[in-house]
Amino acid sequence: MSTPDPQVEIVVDLDAIAHNVRVLRAHAGDAAVMAVVKADGYNHGAVRVGEAALAAGAAELGVTTVAEALVLREGGITAPILCWLNTSDADYAAAVAADIEIGICSVAHLEAVVRGARAVGRPAVTTVKVDTGLNRNGVPDAQLPAVLELFRESVAAGTVRFRGVFSHLAHADEPRHPMLDVQRDRFLNAIALAKEYGLQPEVAHLANSAATLTRPDLAFDMVRPGIAVYGLSPIPELSDFGLRPAMTFRARVALVKPVAAGEGVSYGHEWVAPYDTTVALIPAGYADGVSRALGGRIPLRIGGVAYPAVGRICMDQLVIDLGDNPDGVAEGDAAVLFGAEPGDPSAQHWAELLGTINYEIACAPRGRAVRSYRGGRDEVGGAR
Ligand SMILES: *Cc1c(COP(=O)(O)O)cnc(C)c1O
Repeated sequence: MSTPDPQVEIVVDLDAIAHNVRVLRAHAGDAAVMAVVKADGYNHGAVRVGEAALAAGAAELGVTTVAEALVLREGGITAPILCWLNTSDADYAAAVAADIEIGICSVAHLEAVVRGARAVGRPAVTTVKVDTGLNRNGVPDAQLPAVLELFRESVAAGTVRFRGVFSHLAHADEPRHPMLDVQRDRFLNAIALAKEYGLQPEVAHLANSAATLTRPDLAFDMVRPGIAVYGLSPIPELSDFGLRPAMTFRARVALVKPVAAGEGVSYGHEWVAPYDTTVALIPAGYADGVSRALGGRIPLRIGGVAYPAVGRICMDQLVIDLGDNPDGVAEGDAAVLFGAEPGDPSAQHWAELLGTINYEIACAPRGRAVRSYRGGRDEVGGAR
């Protein structure tokens, strides 16, 4: 190999993505699966994850912005793509030209999309996002008649194709929360209202990962899982649902050296060696997504052994104590920060230590971290 391995790596297992999509399909019943690959595929790489998800039976992809959708098209993905959160000055003409479906949440957005469609000379494919109680983006009840009226006129004028209705849940991670039924009922009302305006949705969709896995009654025509595609549980306190984490975050040992008893390690000497020991320097720090708040609290796995991080996590590096196993680690060894192999520290554990959710941990690795893939078509000789 001419280029050395990167010092910090995000390794994404595309076979795990495929497995997770199959788990989700089994839960979705007759409903299609839209794999959500927003935020660059939850930091796993949207194009590669999208390809793997589609190959495993996902029917469509979902993203946030027009720009994210265009990246997928540029990456060669031809499957249906929906984007749902844009400002009115987004490049809707580019979206229409690239056959990207647009989620609409206001009259102003729909007007802008119609202008884009006119510029391209082709109808825009659109889906109305209705607010059923999350009170984030989505058309609120009071504005729904005006939005549907403009849809009706635009469909008649040939500038818009009305593809569907969707909404997003506020309490999906609490499967028995009464708000889920409230949102389902409001969603059904919105669909009925659309029909009163002569708008017949081809697809209705409401369920994210948590609802897909626990509320099959909310599957409608399509489900929109995100986090579960990546193998992280949307309700970790309930189950792992047989999902397999796809991301391994690892770094290569940069230096192994002795530290004498009584010597402090890293800024502020928060850890003082209680014995003569050996430490290893890991060249990943908070600039790479290892939160400084994890200092002294996480294990890293090298070979079959977990070693504790000691002292402060710095911008570029952290230190682990090799303790009783000074010869077990050599410069260049891979140290797993979190992963999915037996014995690996988990993203879920980081989330619990940091008082956050695993979604935020998946999005954390950055900076010097270089992404690579295993599994998927690489397994059969494909290279990219
Ligand atoms: C992010 C997102 C999803 C996926 O949510 P998960 O909880 O990751 O499954 C689905 N729908 C919308 C509108 C979203 O913004």
